[in-house]
Amino acid sequence: KENLDKGLAKTKESVFKKLSRAVVGKSKVDEDVLDELEEILISSDVGVDTTVRIIERIEKRVDEDKFLGTSELNRILKEEISGLLQENNKGEYDAWELPKSDNPYVIMVVGVNGVGKTTTIGKLAYQFKQSGRKVMLGAADTFRAAAVDQLHIWADRVQVPIVDQGMGADPASVAFETLTKAKKDGIDVVIIDTAGRLHNKINLMNELSKIKRVMDRVIPDAPHEILLVLDGSTGQNAFEQAKQFTLATDVNALAITKLDGTAKGGVVIGVSDQFKIPVKYIGIGEAMTDLQVFNRDEFVDSLFS
Ligand code: GDP
Repeated sequence: KENLDKGLAKTKESVFKKLSRAVVGKSKVDEDVLDELEEILISSDVGVDTTVRIIERIEKRVDEDKFLGTSELNRILKEEISGLLQENNKGEYDAWELPKSDNPYVIMVVGVNGVGKTTTIGKLAYQFKQSGRKVMLGAADTFRAAAVDQLHIWADRVQVPIVDQGMGADPASVAFETLTKAKKDGIDVVIIDTAGRLHNKINLMNELSKIKRVMDRVIPDAPHEILLVLDGSTGQNAFEQAKQFTLATDVNALAITKLDGTAKGGVVIGVSDQFKIPVKYIGIGEAMTDLQVFNRDEFVDSLFS
């Protein structure tokens, strides 16, 4: 929680400052306060649609209680945003818990270059290993030599095995070899890196479906998790990438990185709400330990307390 507070400090400070300014000299929540609040949420990248939903929820509460005090605003915001996030988070995630199975749990990681994909994979490997799991990485982003090299650096740092067929190899073949090996070696968690070249959408879609098909042949239902990594500091780009990747494949979890470097952490709320996908992890720094399992109550608490 302490790290989370620190990681979200910029967003919190910005939201808090604006919110305090909006309610100064006012005792109750009125139209002006709601207008200000709308602007604050939009400027923290919550997104227009989601902001409108939040404002409507709060308007409803103001209607029910005409004398709703501005001192109550933070509490109500927390309740409403937490409620909104809960709707996309049906199967509540337990910290680093995995479903019981004889087969490895397979995470396929997607996202464009530069968003922090490799770092997130490294951090995940570290955390799963710390919790006593056997982890294996698969270097299926074979499009860039740097991607394979970077993944090796993380595998060395965290001391986990990695399967790599070099640059230019068929990503599906890398996935096949990784899952086959993982099964044989009694691995608990497999994390597969993939190339995220959005400029050719048909290719991306085909490549991801082929990797998925091959995985499912080795381990039924794999990949269990298709994790889309988004850079939290990129605002509308993150929304656009979420749109493209959800069209290309069945993304069922989000990791939002670099929240420590931005005052616009509201993107966590907006992307999850707009695409109805749970945020599973958040990145709040560059260190191995700077990845947290997303907890919506702690998150809104950090932002609005
Ligand atoms: P990739 O191209 O998507 O694989 O991106 P990388 O994993 O190489 O990360 C790009 C840069 O973002 C690196 O300098 C990382 O250290 C940095 N980075 C990744 N996640 C975070 C984060 O949560 N916070 C901060 N501050 N930096 C991050």
